[in-house]
Amino acid sequence: MKLYNTAKPDQYTNFENAVFQGLAEGNGLFMPSSFPQFDAAFFQNLPNLSFEEMAFEVVNALIGDEIPAAVLKEICDDAFNFPVPLVKLDNQYQILELFHGPSLAFKDFGARFMSRIMAYFNQTRKKKLHILVATSGDTGGAVAMGFHNVPGIQVSILFPKGRVSKYQEVQLTCLGGNIKAYEVDGSFDDCQALVKKAFTDREFADKEGLASANSINIARLIPQSLYYFKAWADLQKQKPGAEVVFSVPSGNFGNICAGAFAKKMGLPIKKLIAAVNENRMFTEYLSSGVMQPKPSIATLSNAMDVGNPSNFVRIEALLGDVVGVRDWFSSFSFSDVETEQAENEIYDRYEYLSEPHAAVGYSGLKQYFAQNPGTETGIFLGTAHPAKFIPVLPKAFVERVEIPKSILDLMEKPSEKTCIGLDYEEFKKLISG
Ligand SMILES: *Cc1c(COP(=O)(O)O)cnc(C)c1O
Repeated sequence: MKLYNTAKPDQYTNFENAVFQGLAEGNGLFMPSSFPQFDAAFFQNLPNLSFEEMAFEVVNALIGDEIPAAVLKEICDDAFNFPVPLVKLDNQYQILELFHGPSLAFKDFGARFMSRIMAYFNQTRKKKLHILVATSGDTGGAVAMGFHNVPGIQVSILFPKGRVSKYQEVQLTCLGGNIKAYEVDGSFDDCQALVKKAFTDREFADKEGLASANSINIARLIPQSLYYFKAWADLQKQKPGAEVVFSVPSGNFGNICAGAFAKKMGLPIKKLIAAVNENRMFTEYLSSGVMQPKPSIATLSNAMDVGNPSNFVRIEALLGDVVGVRDWFSSFSFSDVETEQAENEIYDRYEYLSEPHAAVGYSGLKQYFAQNPGTETGIFLGTAHPAKFIPVLPKAFVERVEIPKSILDLMEKPSEKTCIGLDYEEFKKLISG
């Protein structure tokens, strides 16, 4: 696979380098320089395949030149070992539930795939591999669970004391094995500063084999394009010939960018709808043609509180300019009041219990259909399990949420964390121990 650097478009690398480097030179992102094109026969056969099978077909076409097919097959089987159901609310509205993995959010797809890809490449690199991340909550859980028990990889996760929920904390502290949690006496920015310092400490970073598991990593994006194929195939079984629009609750725009990758590979997606909360930079970009990053605003759908969406660069690179982006994308923004109304409406209409992120996705779809009446089926992405967002759910929902057994089990396990201050030398000693 050949990838270019969005900051220096004539600079190329392969998939393995892009995975370990994460960020390209000059703060650029790695972008595939071409995409495989699937033909009509491929799509005709797609509904006959399981998720793992279609995942293999797609990733093999993308990165099969760097990883043997048998290995990729095993990675897909192992990484995607949970269901991805398309749930029909009515004939027009359907939700793709992406929260049946171990951390109960769609980020499991990216984290589980990336960890196994890194473990594979690392066998031949024969170097120590140490994943170092700072988390404010959600990403850390997906990374910890995604890398848990993956051979040959050590993981250190820093989180700010008193700033993550109890439930998020157990995902970091109760796994044990190769996952070590550090509670930093400071803010998320302090955690981030320690991590950054370690990565720029060249000698240390090299000796420790430090790597990041950041959400801009191309190995996290690729697996996120797979469930668009799955949703389309499931819809064809239900309604042969159905046209589809996807509404994606968006923050850093990784998830929806992966949808654009799927469309680029030939998946017939009529429109990608970026549904956002009050952080509406992309919505404004589509109308004005100018991307104007702003400080983020805190909302109910807090995993989408992003003022400067990092994957925007990839979307513009893929489609050229705002005219190209408008052709594939629509975008709508919703307030917290509207989000809560939507949660209640989804429950009243369908007896379906959602959470703020999915509710923003649903609202995006509704707004799109109001402006573009048509016969398409709308699929919105259920990015997280409601149990993850209990503190921000409507009061009446709280007692109705079923906490998944995997979480209850985890909470029973002994918790282990190391408390640290902000001293870099001490931090270095501890994590290399
Ligand atoms: C990360 C996240 C999002 C936003 O996804 P992006 O890829 O950053 O746009 C939406 N919902 C939930 C629950 C998330 O954890």
